[in-house]
Amino acid sequence: MYTISRKLSILFIACTISAILLVTLFVNLTVTNKFNDYMVDIQNKRYQRIVTYLEDVYKREGKWTENTGIELMHEAYMGNYCLTLMDQHKKPVWGMDPNAINKQLNMNSMPVQETGVYTTKSFEIKVNSRIVGYVDIGQYSTILLTEEDVNFKGSINKSIVASGILTLIIISGFSLYFSKQFSDPIKEVAKTSVNLSRGNYETKSSIKSNLIELKDLQKSVNVLAGKLKYQDILRKRLVSDISHEIRTPLHVLQNNLEAMIDGVFPVTTEKLLYLNEEVIRFGKLINNLNILKEFEAESTKLKYETIFLDEFITEISKDFNLDADKKNIMVDLNIQQNHKYLVTGDKDKLKQVFINLFSNSLKFTEPKGRVLIKLYENDNKITVEISDNGIGIKQEDLPFIFERLYRGDMSRHQIEGNGIGLTIAKNILQLHNASIEVESKEGKGTKFTICFPKNETS
Ligand code: ADP
Repeated sequence: MYTISRKLSILFIACTISAILLVTLFVNLTVTNKFNDYMVDIQNKRYQRIVTYLEDVYKREGKWTENTGIELMHEAYMGNYCLTLMDQHKKPVWGMDPNAINKQLNMNSMPVQETGVYTTKSFEIKVNSRIVGYVDIGQYSTILLTEEDVNFKGSINKSIVASGILTLIIISGFSLYFSKQFSDPIKEVAKTSVNLSRGNYETKSSIKSNLIELKDLQKSVNVLAGKLKYQDILRKRLVSDISHEIRTPLHVLQNNLEAMIDGVFPVTTEKLLYLNEEVIRFGKLINNLNILKEFEAESTKLKYETIFLDEFITEISKDFNLDADKKNIMVDLNIQQNHKYLVTGDKDKLKQVFINLFSNSLKFTEPKGRVLIKLYENDNKITVEISDNGIGIKQEDLPFIFERLYRGDMSRHQIEGNGIGLTIAKNILQLHNASIEVESKEGKGTKFTICFPKNETS
């Protein structure tokens, strides 16, 4: 197992070494080729110079003697080549000993005299287009290199290797820096996940990276953290709410029954009716939880039919006239005209949704308040708005009100309810492909907006 930074560094360095080796090889080949071409050119010029020199000497002296052009011998000896001067009949006039050159080469231990095989080249010496003699130039390698030439070639190779090593060092530094740019943010996100797994949901990943994938990863981890935190709050509330909802009616029953058994309270029909109400309320809670369980298990069968939403809502709202009058709340029904509000759905289930929303508006609105029900069509959607100017919902409670048993702060627990209506409503609406949203301000009022997809035939 490797860390990302180690793996990336190894990769970078491996790529760099291969690149440097390839570049070194190509540069070396090119330099050697060009250098050899250059040396061959110099060599040819030297041959030409020797021939021209001997031609000039012959022109001047008119014959070959043992001393003709003897001064070339010293240069030839220094340059590690061998000269033999011959007359027009190819009879040697004078010549150098190849063995002497060989000895000198061995003494200087020149490495570049590759083959060691002695080869000669013969050149004609012409005066007035007539061959007057020949000069043989012999050497122990195809290209003759002086010590300076060999040193020059060596220094080029050394600088290629040095620049390769320098590049490797620089690239290693870069690779460490860049691999850290990958590994540091990933390490940070991993640390956040570990914190989350330990239940520390406040942790947020705050990596600084300009890589889209890493930023996305960070975002998802932060979203996950948010969701886990939300679920955690919900779980804690659910446990406390369930125990509260169950404990309260049980307490009332227990206390009253004990008092009756002890003879503190007389057993009257009125008392028994009161206790029966508690039992019914308790039964309702269990019933609602059961309904919810069915929705969540998606085992509820819906009876789909076409519903004229305008008529449907008008009918349901009429059932609340009495309650509204009792609390002196004005209920306005505002239906945008000239539209057919056709939706496909289960009448009984949708009735349950609207009954819950209407009754909540009346329940959470002070006497002399106002409830407005609006129905209109826009963007191929049929929208129902139920707004009131009641007590509103605290901002911090808003994200939770569609969760089961959520009833907001304890002060609301005096108002009849069990915090299940909205959860059921949301589930029913989801089965109808409809959405429900809430806007609310504490002390100002609440608005629920439901959007149905429009029935094709409407
Ligand atoms: P219940 O009304 O039985 O408590 P619901 O699921 O219908 O349960 O509502 C959950 C909570 O949402 C309520 O307890 C209340 O705090 C809040 N709520 C719902 N509707 C309104 C409203 N119109 N105005 C103020 N608060 C509301």
